[in-house]
Amino acid sequence: MVHFVGAGPGAEDLITVRGQRFLQEADVIIYAGSLVNPGLLKNAKEGCQIYDSAYMTLDEVLKVIYEAEEKGLMTVRLHTGDPSIYGAIKEQMDELDKKEIEYDVCPGVSSMSGVASALKVEYTLPDVSQTIIITRAEGRTEVPEKESLKSMACHKATMLLFLSSSLADKVKADLIEGGFEPETPVAVVYKATWPDQKILRTTLTELPEAMAKEGITKTAMIVVGHVLDSDYKLSKLYDPTFSTEFRKGSEE
Ligand code: SAH
Repeated sequence: MVHFVGAGPGAEDLITVRGQRFLQEADVIIYAGSLVNPGLLKNAKEGCQIYDSAYMTLDEVLKVIYEAEEKGLMTVRLHTGDPSIYGAIKEQMDELDKKEIEYDVCPGVSSMSGVASALKVEYTLPDVSQTIIITRAEGRTEVPEKESLKSMACHKATMLLFLSSSLADKVKADLIEGGFEPETPVAVVYKATWPDQKILRTTLTELPEAMAKEGITKTAMIVVGHVLDSDYKLSKLYDPTFSTEFRKGSEE
């Protein structure tokens, strides 16, 4: 059996209870060493075989899993944040399907939630933005043309840019060209929830210089949008005149 497990954004205690239990029971752990906190491996039982996938190809990862399966061992494949976001898990699951190896997926706290908690921000403020665009700038990995940063910018929704910290010039140029004002507020969170977390607040136009000054080139999220600074409307949920399934409002 193979469990794909979300390790959470960084802090050791932000893994789920289920994920932690799988780690404690695993015979083999393959973890994404570039982003997963190695402190989580303290949960491993004695004798557990531990591999860092940062140094491995897909075939090498699969080989470790197949060997474990032959011996009837349980493998945890530990991915950063939540495995469903830029996790490269499908290519692994498809190969396991071919070999009829059983697996499941244990969700994790994505870095997008870790970043929100670091910033104490609500990404969806009434009247400001009710939409979150999760995307990345095109670098070595291609992004479909229909999802170019420039075209996404026209919505002026809250934008969360993963995997883009080395592409700040492009982020600035494309988002401004796409319709965001140069003064739009931006927050960059480096290693959210880790002990060396850093928060940078700036504007789109000053983003590249601000990031260069702080030396942030990886493991950071770029958050763009007016949820970072705006006036907003109170939510309907706690409005005394608004009825919900649980509470009758005064004006109905
Ligand atoms: N599956 C992961 C994302 C993997 S892609 C998740 O759900 O979070 C890796 C990218 O995630 C990084 O380039 C960075 O943009 C973001 N990231 C991961 N951990 C982060 C953290 N602790 N703080 C800020 N950004 C983080």
